[in-house]
Amino acid sequence: MADDLDELLDEVELRFCRDSAPSVPPKETSKEEDDLSDLIEDIFHDDPSVSDLSKSNPGAITNCSGHRPPSQTKGRKCCPVYLGGSSAPLGLGTNTSQRTCDQLRCTTCDFRVITLDDYEWNKSCDYFFFRNNMPDLNKLKVKTLSRRGARAYACQCSWRSIQNLTDLREEQALRWVCGKH
Ligand SMILES: [Zn+2]
Ligand SMILES: [Zn+2]
Repeated sequence: MADDLDELLDEVELRFCRDSAPSVPPKETSKEEDDLSDLIEDIFHDDPSVSDLSKSNPGAITNCSGHRPPSQTKGRKCCPVYLGGSSAPLGLGTNTSQRTCDQLRCTTCDFRVITLDDYEWNKSCDYFFFRNNMPDLNKLKVKTLSRRGARAYACQCSWRSIQNLTDLREEQALRWVCGKH
């Protein structure tokens, strides 16, 4: 009997251990499985061959073909905006490339600013002269003087004779802006 009981106890113990033994590791393996599935998810998220690249690649392509080139090649504004004499190079002005803007627009009269190289405005110029003759260069030239190195600027409401490179911010009365290049 006692042997039987021992056997029974052994059996119970064995069964308990067998039952409990797997019941402990499963917790660990389930953790490991969680970690593993996390890992797998991470791998899938990081894997460039899976969805992420195929999602980001077309985005990059549209960024390249749809957004960047226009902002790089077109629509750049002078900063700062320069005015200058007739020898000053025309184009997009920056701090490192002091070109005088040839795309000036007036925000007051909404006219494009015209320029006449090697001319300056006659002292008799007034608001009505420009209002009546803008933008006819031949008529406007009537009130100019030939002056080597100068450049005459005018819109319909303002005018300036410029000799040296001038930052437009120094000419606060002028409502001229770069109309983009
Ligand atoms: Zn400009
Ligand atoms: Zn104007």
